[in-house]
Amino acid sequence: MSNISYKSCIKPNKLQICVPDMSEKTILVWFRNDLRIHDNEILLEAIRKADKVLPVYCFDPYYFQKSAAGIPKTGSLRARFLLESVADLRKNLRAIGSELIIRIGNPTEILPQLAEEYEVNEVYHHREVAYEETDISEQVETALWKIRLNLKHFIGHTLYHKEDLPFPIKDIPDSFAIFKKKVERDSNVRPCIATPENIVTPAITNAGELPTLQQLGLDEPVDDPRATTKFAGGETTALARLHEYFVNNPITAGKGRNGHTDHSSRLSPWLSLGCISMRQVHWAVINHEQETHTHHSGILMLELLWRDYFRFMFKKHGKKFFKTDNTQTLPDKNQDELFKNWKNGETGIPFIDASMHELNATGYISNFSRQMVAGYLVNDLQLDWKKGAAYFEEKLVDYSPASNWGNWAFIAGLGQDTRDNRYFNMAKYSNELETRSDFISTWLPGVEIG
Ligand SMILES: Cc1cc2nc3c(=O)[nH]c(=O)nc-3n(C[C@H](O)[C@H](O)[C@H](O)COP(=O)(O)OP(=O)(O)OC[C@H]3O[C@@H](n4cnc5c(N)ncnc54)[C@H](O)[C@@H]3O)c2cc1C
Repeated sequence: MSNISYKSCIKPNKLQICVPDMSEKTILVWFRNDLRIHDNEILLEAIRKADKVLPVYCFDPYYFQKSAAGIPKTGSLRARFLLESVADLRKNLRAIGSELIIRIGNPTEILPQLAEEYEVNEVYHHREVAYEETDISEQVETALWKIRLNLKHFIGHTLYHKEDLPFPIKDIPDSFAIFKKKVERDSNVRPCIATPENIVTPAITNAGELPTLQQLGLDEPVDDPRATTKFAGGETTALARLHEYFVNNPITAGKGRNGHTDHSSRLSPWLSLGCISMRQVHWAVINHEQETHTHHSGILMLELLWRDYFRFMFKKHGKKFFKTDNTQTLPDKNQDELFKNWKNGETGIPFIDASMHELNATGYISNFSRQMVAGYLVNDLQLDWKKGAAYFEEKLVDYSPASNWGNWAFIAGLGQDTRDNRYFNMAKYSNELETRSDFISTWLPGVEIG
């Protein structure tokens, strides 16, 4: 009798009689950075465990305010991508008989209100690792507990499941090289979870409208015609992009544009919002290799592992991930001016400026460009790396807390594994970089841009 719940028995005392609640069981699924219906454990578990499932997304004003440094937490390009992703999730849920409740507001207030309104028995969500996100989860947990409801945490953002790692979280190697070696040797990636075909949802009186950018306090972004990749949010475009990657990408031929290797999948914005899962990408690569008898997936798999590594480092170390703060500033330098020049692409270094122009105009730059501009801010300008990271947080369409702050800390020499520091030596490339345009979409050393 899985449908029987014992709401009144959660904290029984001597006088309380436990009366089974024979009503239907309803589980509220709180979507955050898992905006998909495929390979989504919380959704499938809720369907299995409850009679009715109530999917909810909250636009939390916390993410649309300015940081302590006065930098907006979410820029308009990422906000638009988020709106598109939530709209697509709603469309996909409706296609299988469900609905997505959309609200603007603090989840600590909205979720308990909805839980009471729809007589919810439990709330499911995916566990996050960065402290702002985990703080919000804890606050929601406390708010729900006040109305005697449990917030159940699931693990769903990583390629390797935490339980399948060959070591407990506290013993995860800080060195990426060792982490990689042991995980690849001793762990397996789980299969994807089935996509639901039908979801029973309570009768919803007010599903709520998708907010506009203006309601979130942002202007409509202007699309730059020089951008080579159009990032449109949502699970539907994510799966199309994955398909396109195999059709057009070097993974088939081993070579990219102009015959040069260009393995970049451009999947990061969708991975960051969970419009596509890491496992989905992994198994798509494996299937593709089997079908085409090719073995070119090594680089993509390696990059996915970097993503896992930074998430697990955050899980292991929490705020201590950043060992110490090495902010060094030259006393006679005008930091505000230097930072302004850096973010506006007015440093006088062509490659840095072109990369920043591209970041500002499109919300995306290659991993190489990110390393270059971050390394320049940290090592050449000797500015506070946290300001650079906060600026990336605003601008990046693919912003993901562990990936962004982890990579920045790594470049600043503050991550847990400084041996693998991938900072590029500017001087080595300076001659070649001098000749580049003022807007660079993809640039790899030695590769001509068509
Ligand atoms: C300073 C700095 C900040 C960064 N901030 C972010 C961020 O906020 N969000 C983000 O997704 N990536 C971030 N990265 C990592 C990396 O630059 C991007 O993931 C990558 O450029 C995205 O392009 P792609 O999808 O074509 O990657 P691919 O090369 O195709 O890699 C596939 C996927 O692996 C993951 N990945 C690749 N490289 C890394 C890496 N170094 N660290 C973590 N994950 C990786 C991404 O999810 C990516 O989509 C940052 C890197 C640096 C140096």
